Parts: sequence; structure tokens; C-alpha cells
Amino acid sequence: MFSVLKNLGWFFRQEKRRYIIGLFLLIVAGVAELAPPRLLGSAIDEIVAGTVTWASLTRYILLIIVVLMFIYYITYIWMHSLFGGSNLVERLLRTRFMSHLLRMTPPFFERSRTGDLMARATNDLRSVAQTAGFGMLTLTDSTAYLSVIFIAMSTLISWKLTLAAIIPLPFIALAMKIYGKIIHERYTLAQDAFGDMNDQVLESVAGIRVIRAYVQERHDERRFGAITDDVYQKNLAVARVDAYFEPTIRLCVGMSYAIGLTYGIYLVFHNELTLGDLVSFNMYLGMMIWPMFAIGELINIMQRGGASLDRVNETLNVKPDVADDAHPVAVAIPESITFSDVTFRYPTSTINNLEHIDLTIHRGQTLGIVGRTGSGKSTLLKQLLHEYPLGSGELSISGVPIQKISLERLHSWVGYVPQEQILFSKTVRQNIQFGLKDASDEVILEAIRTAAFDQDLGTLSDGLDTLVGEKGVALSGGQKQRVSLARAFIADPDILILDDALSAVDARTEARIIQNIRDQRSGKTTLISTHRLSAIEHADWIIVLEQGRIIEQGTHEALLAQGGWYREQYERQQVESHLTDGEVS
Ligand code: ATP
Ligand code: MG
Repeated sequence: MFSVLKNLGWFFRQEKRRYIIGLFLLIVAGVAELAPPRLLGSAIDEIVAGTVTWASLTRYILLIIVVLMFIYYITYIWMHSLFGGSNLVERLLRTRFMSHLLRMTPPFFERSRTGDLMARATNDLRSVAQTAGFGMLTLTDSTAYLSVIFIAMSTLISWKLTLAAIIPLPFIALAMKIYGKIIHERYTLAQDAFGDMNDQVLESVAGIRVIRAYVQERHDERRFGAITDDVYQKNLAVARVDAYFEPTIRLCVGMSYAIGLTYGIYLVFHNELTLGDLVSFNMYLGMMIWPMFAIGELINIMQRGGASLDRVNETLNVKPDVADDAHPVAVAIPESITFSDVTFRYPTSTINNLEHIDLTIHRGQTLGIVGRTGSGKSTLLKQLLHEYPLGSGELSISGVPIQKISLERLHSWVGYVPQEQILFSKTVRQNIQFGLKDASDEVILEAIRTAAFDQDLGTLSDGLDTLVGEKGVALSGGQKQRVSLARAFIADPDILILDDALSAVDARTEARIIQNIRDQRSGKTTLISTHRLSAIEHADWIIVLEQGRIIEQGTHEALLAQGGWYREQYERQQVESHLTDGEVS
């Protein structure tokens, strides 16, 4: 049950001072709280005995006030330490969770769902963190504080009466054990369901345009209704057990009172106890209510925290699919890229997505990759990012196998414009600066010119400071592509990868961008995949893919001469472009 605390051991060690002070003062406050009832009991006994004077009565009252002020002050300090600790551990855990996610590669995100990850990073981490604050409080109150009250009752008043009054306590312990186990199970289910719901919200919001366009609002509402109902039912199941905690404890406390009072009166009658003792004893019994509740709360919090921690750890324990080699080889400049007999398949795929690829690209060359949709163009380019576990064969850079090169090094060479544009909900400037930190406006404008985005920039309301909206919704498809291009150009990478990155721009703009790339990238390696052959006509080498294999390769002229897929495709596109040109003029 306390596995959560054990798991947070590192944190308690790190924050030793905070917890020693906090818990110590918590106990001091508890002990101090024992004084007022005892003082009151003594005062009553003096009144009953008739020995009371104004002076003694004033002394009692003053003492009680001093004790209460003392308690007020130290309660502030322990609350501050314990609950501050809870916030701190939440922050630390969340930072750790996030940096873990940033180390993960695509296969991990293909397996997990964003909404569920978000639920873990928020809800679950909070319930883990609560064990370090409220959990520690209830732990102390239900153990140390309860013991202090017992000791006070049995030494200051009567051990016989105390023993009789705590007869119901074992029943509380038993009931809590049973409830605790059920809470753990049901809470896990409830949190899982919450993760599902999160995911559903995320997907609906992201896909709202498609949902509208296909008039699926009602359907989506029903689906969401079903899932919220599921979350509701599962939380209700938790609440049903939760609801047992309080009545069970009240019942036991009530029994304690009944026993304490009956047996207490009996003892008073037999002169083994004074009336003042009985009053103090009853006040102590009253003080025991909270620590007994604390037992229940403790179980509840620890079980929830434990269930959540399991969920969080499930994510934290995933090893990155691609890790750096223990002894990476330092490569200064990527002189060449060589695929030799590379065969690759995605972890979820049942067929090879690349087969027997043999290819060498030297520094300064431009490679064109074409082929019909789904033929493996993107897959081939992504090999250079080393996001997936490698297949068979060898992919090497400057003669060094790619798995021997540190990922940081590798990624520092590569400028990658993915097929799906990913922009952040920031300004155009910030999106481009992503490629080169703190780039000056001059440099940014240069990259924008290369990406042929300069004319569009003038039409944007705030120029470089225009907010592009979430995922760039405020830009057109072609504008998004060119902002992504500028982001890649600005770093002037050794290896530039354009994955169908010109698909959304018109032919004339494409020609302009290609010319700029040719001018600026002499001496550096460029890889371009495309459906429009005009974009790679100038390439030093062109490969045609079909079902993950290279079926044709050569220069533009050689491929035309071969008269295969490339030639057929080229002729068709020539005719099309003449037709569209004709329409325009
Ligand atoms: P397009 O011209 O449409 O961009 P492409 O040539 O880039 O196509 P790829 O994206 O490389 O094609 O896909 C090649 C094959 O690999 C496809 O059959 C596709 O279904 C499969 N595939 C792509 N990505 C994954 C993935 N993450 N997991 C499993 N299979 C994948
Ligand atoms: Mg592709």
C-alpha cells in the first residue's frame, strides 16, 4: 500500500529538511492540542472541589489562549512545508515525464494516445503528488498523533478506560484494508476511462472541420455521450466505496464514545475517576475522531496514488525505441550517404516497406525520389532521421553505420521538411527561428526569400509577427509549406530533406524555389521526393520506387531514354502542364 511513498523515496531524501521540520511540528501541534482539555478538566475539578479562585481561573484561561496561539503558528509552518512539498514533487515528476516524452521516437507515439498521455501528465501526477502532502499528513495523524492521544489518555486519565474505548479500532483497520483494495482497482479503471475521454475530446476538437463537413456532429455527440457515461459510471463505482469510509468510521467512533461514556460513568461512581477526568477523556475521544478519519483518508489517498503511479510508471518505463550507441563514432562532416542492401519494415507493418535498397549519395549531390503514392519515398527519407529501429542491411554516413552516430549529431546535420506541415501556434518569426535559435530578421527574411514566401509575407496582417494559429490554421496549405521550408533553409543544413515539400505550391513558385535551392545549396547534399517530376529534373541522380524497391534509376535524360515508368509519367505531366497553361492564357 505504501509503495507510492517508497517510490518517492528519492524526493523525501532530497527534501529531508522540509519533511523533518514539517512532520516534527505536526506532532508538536498534536501534543500541544492535548493541553486545553487537560486544563479544562483540572479547572472543573477545582470548581467541583470548591477550591477555585479568580486568579487560578484567569491562569487557566490565559494558558489555554497561549497554547492555542502556539498551535496556530506552528500549524501554519507544517502546512506550508507539507503541501509545498506536494506541489514541488508534482512539478518535478511532470518535468521528468515531459523530458521522457521528448526522448521517445515515433513508434512510441504510434502506440500511445495523446489524450491518455495528457491524463497521465495531469490527473495522475496530481494524485501521486497528493501522497507527498495530504498523504504524509494523514500518515502522521493516523499513527503518531493517534498514539500521542492514546498515551495521554492512558497516562493522564485511565489506561483501563482507554483500552475499553479503543476496542472498535481493529474493525476500522480491517474495513479500511478491504475498501482500500477495491478503491485501487476501481480507481485504475476510472483513470483509464478518463484517459480515453481525454483522447476523444482531443480528436473531436482537432477533427471538428471534418466532423462538420460530414455532418457527423450528432454521431460524435453520441459517441462522446457514451464515453462520458463510462467515465461517470466508473467514478461512481469509486464513489460507492468512498461513501463507506465515513459511515464506517463514524460507527466505530460512536461505539468508542458509548463504551467510553458508560464505562467512564461507572468508574466515576466507583471513585476511580473524577468528573474532570471524564470531561477531559471525552474531549480526547473527540480529538480521536480526526486521526481515525485520517486512517481512512490515508488508505484512500495511498491507493489512488498507487494506481496513478502505476499508470505513470508504465509510460516512464518505456525505453526509447532508438537509443544512442554506448560508444558513438564522431563524424565531422557527412561526406557520403550509403544504403547497402537496406530492407526495412515499420514495427506495425506486415510487409517490407523498403527492400534491397542500394544507393550512394556524395556530398554536394542532389537526389530525386519519385514513385507512385505509398511506394516508400517518405520511408526512405525517414531512414536518415533514424526514428525507427533499423532493418537489415546497412545505412552509413561517411562510412560509419548510422547506429554508431549519436542522434544529436545526426539531427544537427539534417534539415527536414516533412510531408505533413507542423507549425506551432506562434508567430511566423518564431516558427522559422525554430530552425536557428535567435536568428536575426535579416537572416529570416533571406530564408523567406529562398522559400519564395516573401510576397505572401506582405499580405499577412502583421508580417513576421502574424500568429499562424494552432497548427498553422491561419495560413493556406502552400503558405504553411513555405514557412516550413524557410525553417529548414535558415539552418543551412548539411543534408536537406524535402519530403514532397512543394506539393501545395503552383508550378511557377515551385520553379522559383527549385532555382533558389540550386543556387544556395551547391556543395551540400539535398534529397527531394516529389510527385511532380519538374522538381527533380535537375537532380544528379533520380530513383523510382515501387513497393519499396528501386525499379529505375539514373539521371533525368537516362531515365527518359529508358522509356519506363519515369518517361510515361513525364510525358503525362508535360501534356497536363500544357493544358493548364493553355487554360490560363
Ligand atoms: P506518398 O507519395 O503518398 O507520400 P510514400 O511513397 O511517401 O507515399 P510511404 O509514406 O513511405 O509512401 O509509405 C510506404 C508504405 O509504408 C505504405 O504502404 C504505408 O502504408 C506504410 N507506412 C508508412 N508509414 C507507416 C507507419 N508509421 N507504420 C506502418 N506502416 C507505414
Ligand atoms: Mg510520402
